[in-house]
Amino acid sequence: MPATSISYFLEDKPDQTVFDVIVIGSGIGGLVTATQLAAKGAKVLVLESYLIPGGSAGYFEREGYRFDVGASMIFGFGDQGTTNLLTRALKAVDMSIETIPDSVQIDYHLPNGLNLKVHRDYDKFLQELTEYFPHERQGIRQFYNECWKVFNCLNAMDLLSLEEPRYLTRVFFQHPLACLGLVKYLPQNAGDIARRYIKDPTLLKFIDMECYCWSVVPADLTPMINAGMVFSDRHYGGINYPKGGVGQIAQKLVEGLEKFGGKIQYKAKVTKILKQKNRAVGVQLADGKVYHAKRIVSNATRWDTFEKLLPVEEMPAAEKSWQQRYQKSPSFLSLHLGVKADVLSPGTECHHILLEDWQKMEAPEGTIFVSIPTLLDPDLAPAGHHIIHTFTPSWIEDWQKLSATEYEEKKEEAAGRIIERLEKIFPGLDAGLDYMEVGTPRTHRRFLGREHGTYGPIPRRKLLGLLGMPFNRTAIPGLYCVGDSTFPGQGLNAVAFSGFACAHRIAVDLGM
Ligand SMILES: Cc1cc2nc3c(=O)[nH]c(=O)nc-3n(C[C@H](O)[C@H](O)[C@H](O)COP(=O)(O)OP(=O)(O)OC[C@H]3O[C@@H](n4cnc5c(N)ncnc54)[C@H](O)[C@@H]3O)c2cc1C
Repeated sequence: MPATSISYFLEDKPDQTVFDVIVIGSGIGGLVTATQLAAKGAKVLVLESYLIPGGSAGYFEREGYRFDVGASMIFGFGDQGTTNLLTRALKAVDMSIETIPDSVQIDYHLPNGLNLKVHRDYDKFLQELTEYFPHERQGIRQFYNECWKVFNCLNAMDLLSLEEPRYLTRVFFQHPLACLGLVKYLPQNAGDIARRYIKDPTLLKFIDMECYCWSVVPADLTPMINAGMVFSDRHYGGINYPKGGVGQIAQKLVEGLEKFGGKIQYKAKVTKILKQKNRAVGVQLADGKVYHAKRIVSNATRWDTFEKLLPVEEMPAAEKSWQQRYQKSPSFLSLHLGVKADVLSPGTECHHILLEDWQKMEAPEGTIFVSIPTLLDPDLAPAGHHIIHTFTPSWIEDWQKLSATEYEEKKEEAAGRIIERLEKIFPGLDAGLDYMEVGTPRTHRRFLGREHGTYGPIPRRKLLGLLGMPFNRTAIPGLYCVGDSTFPGQGLNAVAFSGFACAHRIAVDLGM
């Protein structure tokens, strides 16, 4: 719809600033949408309820440590192809970040002594995996090679809005084989493809963990498009840590946004999306302030958007049907630790996954995730110290209805259990502790504004790959969603994709 055609319902408010686009939330999805649109000349306002930008990719500082709130294993900082979306998002607003390459994506510590590293070097990784499963040599290569096919299709084309027919037609004529390849993989899940080539049950469990550690569901429920991205890009663009911490990504995007005339307001909690004639036209803040825009984008989760910012009783049928397909994943119990440097033996890798019993992979406090970003950027901790950020799945229900004392005691006990298990890979951890802050699903809910503190949507049952994940437009005209409850899901590079797509769709809708 051309920009001018909506002026009829705004002209009764001539005294108010009308933006082209308001973005609710400054997660990476929201900021990529905002910067892309600002770079195209749109008048953009970002409203963020917290004090700083970034959401799950934010940071906080305590006693000389700078902790990443969530994400630490960062994809999308490659320097070639089209899937390096963080590099590209920053570049669009004349920004860049120095990054530090990581030679190993994950150091796995799995049941029955299955201890192996996912090296950036693809052949080295396959060789190490094949040493554990020599009888599956061919199956291993066939499975991971099929992931490369997905990645090569994605990496051949500009990743923009799949809701824009002219773009789809153009891309199809430019890259017909890549497009047909993607159409083939779109409805498939990684587990089906893994089982086509691999028979060993332990190796299939390993593939489950390879998926679970970022999709929080086993391979059978993990879309092949996402698996293709992750399992290939780690060897192509690689895992690269932003110097100064993950929070730098959002900080730089905000700097770029402002450079291009966009605005951001912090401590600006949106409580209502305003509609006129069923069209989203503005937002109201907790302090009563009202802003209007031609287009509204929500970077809050779909649950928060359609159950809190809009009246739940008016939820569109498409959202109800989405909720029947997807549910909230668990949140996390997070320990942000400062430790003496000698706790870590020489050669320790940055990212680890620990699991002692395959049956518990998806259980609360089952899989433990560890990131030690100071191995890449020592400036994030006081001299002679490291940061260990460790987290494990946890449900909000387990942290409700507790008195303040009970809550603190429960946090202490849970932290004690995690540290005890981590002693296996970091002997002396407990004795070397210098600082500890424990976050629960309640913390994630409070500081990230995410219903139940959820990590994001996961399929309720086996779905047809990514086909069930909505794009950016919603059933409410003028309202778009961006971030991890839209195609293609969780992870910084994924929500950046969603941001590129959302901005593209809006720019076309605004005739820009
Ligand atoms: C513990 C943990 C570890 C992770 N590890 C990794 C990793 O290693 N690699 C990786 O790629 N990904 C990782 N992720 C996932 C990744 O961080 C997320 O998928 C991604 O950051 C989500 O981005 P988003 O744009 O959807 O929004 P969010 O990060 O959820 O940000 C939304 C923003 O909107 C704001 N907001 C919400 N509601 C309102 C409102 N009503 N008014 C105003 N503002 C509002 C929030 O305050 C927040 O700033 C991890 C996540 C967690 C929690």
